[in-house]
Amino acid sequence: MFPLTEENKHVAQLLLSTGTCPRCIFRFCGVDFHAPYKRPYKELLNELQKFLETEKEELILDVPNPPPKKIRLQELEDGIDGIDNLSQNGEGRVSILEDGSIASKNSNLNVCNVCLGILQEFCEKEFIKKVCQKVEASGFEFTNLVFSVSFPPQLSVREHAAWLLVKQEMGKQNLSLGRNDIVQLKEAYKWITHPLFSEELGVPIDGKSLFEVSVIFAHPETVEDCHFLRAICPDCFKPAKNKQSVFTRMAVVKALNKIKEEDFRKQFPCPPNSPKAVCTVLEIECAHGAVFVAGRYNKYSRNLPQTPWIIDGERKLESSVEELISDHLLAVFKAESFNFSSSGREDVDVRTLGNGRPFAIELVNPHRVHFTSQEIKELQQKINNSSNKIQVRDLQLVTREAIGHMKEGEEEKTKSYSALIWTNKAIQKKDIEFLNDIKDLKIDQKTPLRVLHRRPLAVRTRIIHSMETRYVDEHHFHLYLKTQAGTYIKEFVHGDFGRTKPNIGSLMNMTADILELDVEVNHFIVEMPVCTLNSTKFCFFFGGGGGGALSQTGTYLYSP
Ligand SMILES: [Zn+2]
Repeated sequence: MFPLTEENKHVAQLLLSTGTCPRCIFRFCGVDFHAPYKRPYKELLNELQKFLETEKEELILDVPNPPPKKIRLQELEDGIDGIDNLSQNGEGRVSILEDGSIASKNSNLNVCNVCLGILQEFCEKEFIKKVCQKVEASGFEFTNLVFSVSFPPQLSVREHAAWLLVKQEMGKQNLSLGRNDIVQLKEAYKWITHPLFSEELGVPIDGKSLFEVSVIFAHPETVEDCHFLRAICPDCFKPAKNKQSVFTRMAVVKALNKIKEEDFRKQFPCPPNSPKAVCTVLEIECAHGAVFVAGRYNKYSRNLPQTPWIIDGERKLESSVEELISDHLLAVFKAESFNFSSSGREDVDVRTLGNGRPFAIELVNPHRVHFTSQEIKELQQKINNSSNKIQVRDLQLVTREAIGHMKEGEEEKTKSYSALIWTNKAIQKKDIEFLNDIKDLKIDQKTPLRVLHRRPLAVRTRIIHSMETRYVDEHHFHLYLKTQAGTYIKEFVHGDFGRTKPNIGSLMNMTADILELDVEVNHFIVEMPVCTLNSTKFCFFFGGGGGGALSQTGTYLYSP
């Protein structure tokens, strides 16, 4: 059914005669149900003309059709001005990306003076098909998508001009038209294109999807439409970082809200003049939101940093824990890049034993995101087979929120270490036994010399909860420690030139040094089914060694 009624006739006639497309006419007449917009453009145009024909003869247009202020050179040469252009065949052109791989010409189109073709050929099946081809060629794995469009900012100026025109016309009939009575261009575009996308790609459009297809439109021909606003509202157009132009859509809308009606009319033609060409497509972009993989790692090498060790641009060691794990993930997820994070870190010469240190990896713009738990297991095996320096366990997909919990879990934990100690004086078994009896020893640690270049100078009090010794020979023994998180173990052994007090050396009244150090990380993650993407299901748990697990909401779950 044709959605316009008798009372819309006057406005519809006015807009059509000034170069506005049928779908924009629907918008200005407040047609807010989807069906009429979705019908083929040619059908709409024919029906609209038929609908208006009956009265065409009687209808007297008293529309002031001022020629545009700036008549462009090109237009003068062509002998047409904006309005007359309407009667001619405008050259509609769609071109996608500069290589011209997708281009269509539609020579029968009068380009709409309000939407600049957006509600004309850019919502026809042909165009959607071309976007979908790009999406399919991009190689992303997706089960739904969010579609976003960016329109040129001058569309808002033209919309404003058309609104003033219609408002004035309706005012003559004692009718009013508020800004919000008009159906927004974006809305109408969505109504038409979303079903087409869904049909073409076979997946639903979902605002929460991590897969985003975005189309950026531009209209070089009318780029100057916005410029007069800057003189009137200079405050709205301040240069900003990362913005190519001050004429952003936001700034333009802000200025349009400020500008007085009569000032606008003086500067900009109402109705807006008709352009020669439709918008161009600057970019069709596909992107997938990050996915997160977490697990725990053990490090068995005393020559492996956690993250790439680069000083003054020079690489000091050839690999790192982060790379040994992430390189495999990058390849399998076909991601662009990654960010590695972990619950604490160990020095390059410290091994990480026990249940392993929790880590998480953010995979940026992954092309593959769906994995079965079996596939994740195989991936973990692949990482473990590729190096004997590290081993990974409990590898799983997690939500972004889980990462925050991992970072929180780092604090206020007891840490376990084992160290091999050397002494300058000969020792007997009995010389070290007293250490076993010391409980909750308070020590003061001045920021160690070795980290002073990156940590502020401070004195921190830490607690050595317990120690256990195992005698080796006259100059060596093993020391097992349970300490408060954040204790500098190496300094607690050798004293750091008296900066850590007391220390093993001072307790034993001799010089002690540390030869080897291992950290035992006993936080654990309970293995859970693979996270469903887009769901907030929580599947990443941390707790103290042997204790229970805390869920995301803080409920005590169970003790494994
Ligand atoms: Zn239009």
